[in-house]
Amino acid sequence: MRVASKTDRALILRRFRYGESSLVVHALTPRFGRIALLAKGAYRLRSGYFGVLDLFDTLELTWRDSRTDLGTLAAARILCRRRGLSGDLDRYRAGISMLELARLGAREKCEEARLFAHTEGALEGLQEAAVDPGMALIAFDLGWLALSGLAPAFENCAACGRSSLSSLRSPEAFFSHGGGGLLCSTCRTASRSPGEQVVALPWKVVQTAHTLATTPPEHLPRLRLCPQPVVEVGQLVARFLEYHLERRLRSRKGPDAPERRGSRGKLRLR
Ligand SMILES: [Zn+2]
Repeated sequence: MRVASKTDRALILRRFRYGESSLVVHALTPRFGRIALLAKGAYRLRSGYFGVLDLFDTLELTWRDSRTDLGTLAAARILCRRRGLSGDLDRYRAGISMLELARLGAREKCEEARLFAHTEGALEGLQEAAVDPGMALIAFDLGWLALSGLAPAFENCAACGRSSLSSLRSPEAFFSHGGGGLLCSTCRTASRSPGEQVVALPWKVVQTAHTLATTPPEHLPRLRLCPQPVVEVGQLVARFLEYHLERRLRSRKGPDAPERRGSRGKLRLR
């Protein structure tokens, strides 16, 4: 029985060598979510896939599903090449971090149009020389959290919904990773249970986080933010992701991870 082929736009999330000359790719597509495909002979110079199945580019893939999870790639072409990301180490690392998080959020063989658009837009924006790669990654992470239903509360109390917290007299904001964001003083007192960590943050950090969470990627090049609060937002978002994913992302381990470099501010535990 002949298997009908599928065609969709795609971003390569991961690649593994398979045998002498083939490649297995994991890709994110708008209509079919995360897919795994075998690209037979991809490393042969005369293969139609040679130099096509690269990270960061938007591709069009055609494949046939099989009874296993691994489909077979039948055709691939580049729709948008993003060479700017491979030639700059900071942009490359930020792009790899985006792809790792996109992979964790992508469901298999389900529509993921919003995640695809978010990831593709972030990679496109990362090419802009005026965009700081660390800031672009934070904005991507915050967008990813929003798409996953985990957006941290930066305006209202995450527990009771009380608004306008920054207008209260408290000199610092209180943020709970487990509680989902800012806490008002009443909910902060109520949440003092063992294991529930609440960190004190300058309001400037909260405002910077809110700005990064609400700025579309195409407006990032024109965004002017103080560097130090951005570094602290990066630390905050990294810990928020770790808490909710229950792991540290592989691409962000070590002192050179994008959102850790240049960090000086320490979050104080309360
Ligand atoms: Zn509250």
